[in-house]
Amino acid sequence: MLKIYPDKTKKKRAKQFLLNDPENPPQIAANTRTIPGIITQRGCTYAGCRGVVIGPMHDVLHITHGPIGCSFYSWQTRRNLARPTPGQINYLQYSMTTDMMEDEIIFGGEKKLAAAIREAYRIFKPKAIAVYATCPVGLIGDDIHTVCRLAKEELGINIFGFSCEGYKGVSQSAGHHIANNGVFKHMVGLDDTPDDAEFRINMLGEYNIGGDAWEIDSLLRKCGIHVTATLSGDISYEQVTRCHTVDLNIVQCHRSINYMADMMEKKFGIPWFKVNFIGAETTAKSLRKIAKYFDSKKLTDRVEEVIAQEMAVLRPIRDDVRSRCQGKTAALFVGGSRAHHYQDLFRDMGMKTIAAGYEFAHRDDYEGRAVLPTIKIDADSRNIEEISVEADPRRFRARKTPEQNAALEAGGFTYKDYEGMMKEMSKNTLVIDDISHHEIEKLIEIYKPDVIGSGIKEKFIIEKLGVPCKQLHSYDYGGPYAAFTGAANFYKEIDRMVNTKVWKLVTAPWKGDPTVPARPVLKPKDKTAAAETDDAPKAWKK
Ligand code: SF4
Repeated sequence: MLKIYPDKTKKKRAKQFLLNDPENPPQIAANTRTIPGIITQRGCTYAGCRGVVIGPMHDVLHITHGPIGCSFYSWQTRRNLARPTPGQINYLQYSMTTDMMEDEIIFGGEKKLAAAIREAYRIFKPKAIAVYATCPVGLIGDDIHTVCRLAKEELGINIFGFSCEGYKGVSQSAGHHIANNGVFKHMVGLDDTPDDAEFRINMLGEYNIGGDAWEIDSLLRKCGIHVTATLSGDISYEQVTRCHTVDLNIVQCHRSINYMADMMEKKFGIPWFKVNFIGAETTAKSLRKIAKYFDSKKLTDRVEEVIAQEMAVLRPIRDDVRSRCQGKTAALFVGGSRAHHYQDLFRDMGMKTIAAGYEFAHRDDYEGRAVLPTIKIDADSRNIEEISVEADPRRFRARKTPEQNAALEAGGFTYKDYEGMMKEMSKNTLVIDDISHHEIEKLIEIYKPDVIGSGIKEKFIIEKLGVPCKQLHSYDYGGPYAAFTGAANFYKEIDRMVNTKVWKLVTAPWKGDPTVPARPVLKPKDKTAAAETDDAPKAWKK
């Protein structure tokens, strides 16, 4: 696969390729600079910040400070759905930008940004405005934070900025970190009113693509667990300001939000652990872990009851699909968490993931959090702010006594516990970080997977090579795929994709068998004498 590359590139890419050993995951090079010209899947820091983490907040007004492109291309392309309650506002259908021109690049864009904030406030009267820096903003030295602070004083609403210029870091990942810091500094903890419920949690790192968060929320509600805030799928400003009042944080996408989970634990005493609501078995496991944490017989019984009900409906669908999909193979190259999570759904169907990799995950997402102390931050990521957080003297509250925690841990319970993708992949499966266009083509040629999970940029290339591609960012505009109902949707979708007859028609029949008879040649209607001669086919072409 690497043969084609020049020596320097080969050497670098080789560190991002490995054969897996789940017992002892080998070290992978991840979160390093992309090789120029390689045709990467990656996006930028602005995309990770505005597009992923904060963009889904539906009543925060998002203003992109930059030329028009960044705002236009991020306009409603990520399917983080919102269904505000009556009376709530939804700004997600808008894309607002300062639309910087040559004048602002030369003389600075701060005045234009201040005017845009005032104009947006006059029209929409939002509770909060978030401002996002794009590439030129950092280069010309616009101070968006001062503009936001002055606007906040003038207008009396919460206004804050994110220095998420696209060139920072090496991928979307830096944008997640910057977004976590900003949300924590400017929003979390502003309102101390807790929800009135017995088992209060936050769901962190769930962005409601295709309605996933709604599916998870309704499942948790059935069990009697109350979600105060889902960061950030279908979330309101007011929910973010109160999310520090819960008793537990569960983390779906570790990559994009582990910073927030750690900071909330330090400042407010809220413990966290990793869950996965993609896949039936893992959904059941996650529900049981939440019940164990709350240590309530009532909750545990209810959770078992709900799992039994959901599985009774799901099992026949899964078994039916499995009868056609068993033994097929998948390869997954997606973002920073789905390449791992979706392996569980394929496993439910009897399919094996033979190759997987992330676009922008770090070593801990591959090898597990145990390697965190050994990760060296390189020059490309050193400029991403690490904010220091201390226990809040008034509001820090340990949710469990040391004895309770010791009892939980004695029973095998773990906090802050992401084991990473490689521990769950079989031995000798292929792991590739930041896969390139050429490597995807080669992978198809060598491994011939039955389906590839990837994104829009790869989808049609993969399908032209005769392999179905399931978009695992946008879900091919379907979904939800989370929890039990979502799992049923996914099983049916993959069954349809891998078993459709269309893939058998990609190669023309005579390519494999030259004796396939040709069809009768149609002749032109106004048949002339010339058409009867040897030149007839040429004339027909004209
Ligand atoms: S790389 Fe820069 S110009 Fe491109 S989308 Fe990101 S912020 Fe905008």
